[in-house]
Amino acid sequence: MNSGTASIKQLCDDLRSKLKNEASELQRKARETGICPIDGKPIPKQRLSHGSYTCSEDCAMAWYAKYGWTAIEDKVKARRRELKELLPKKELNEWTKPIARKDYRCNVCGLPIPKGEKYDKFTCLPGDEYFVDDPYETIHQHENCSQFVSLLYDHDFLDFEGYDDDELDDIQGDLGRALSMPKDSIREMVRDGKIGENELSKLKEFYKQQEEKPGDD
Ligand SMILES: [Zn+2]
Ligand SMILES: [Zn+2]
Repeated sequence: MNSGTASIKQLCDDLRSKLKNEASELQRKARETGICPIDGKPIPKQRLSHGSYTCSEDCAMAWYAKYGWTAIEDKVKARRRELKELLPKKELNEWTKPIARKDYRCNVCGLPIPKGEKYDKFTCLPGDEYFVDDPYETIHQHENCSQFVSLLYDHDFLDFEGYDDDELDDIQGDLGRALSMPKDSIREMVRDGKIGENELSKLKEFYKQQEEKPGDD
């Protein structure tokens, strides 16, 4: 199960691999036919033998501008921007704060949301398939847990392309390690709104130490 915006990341990843595949397919064809993909002229044998797939240095430059890594990343970035611009008005409709009509399980901490409690509900609406995998899917979470997720965004523990549930679970595990507490206690702290700046700066410190430890992942 993915959160509401996770598929933006997926769509961007898909676009990136599509563009990369197109580029390598053009290279493959150029080597096979000996024809420059930029201007359709024959590629000199000497260039071909050096593994080049364009007929001249100018064409090589034109190739990178069009199909190179930077060009691909620029296209992915533009697409991501487009997708995000479509997002805010959807979000307004999808998040509500109902009273639980039965017991639910929280998407963030994994603990129960008891019947009668006010909570945050996310509904994936049909027609919103650019952002969600499964229309009508609903996500329930404690209000404090939503606050926790916002804090994670504010402190760059989550990126704005969205997150998978696994990521939230991993972060709570890492918090446990950073604070030397069992994960179950961390879940309760998340639910009770007891994770704040202090705890997150310890988490940041923990990640820093992990990065500095060579060969340990
Ligand atoms: Zn050329
Ligand atoms: Zn929760």
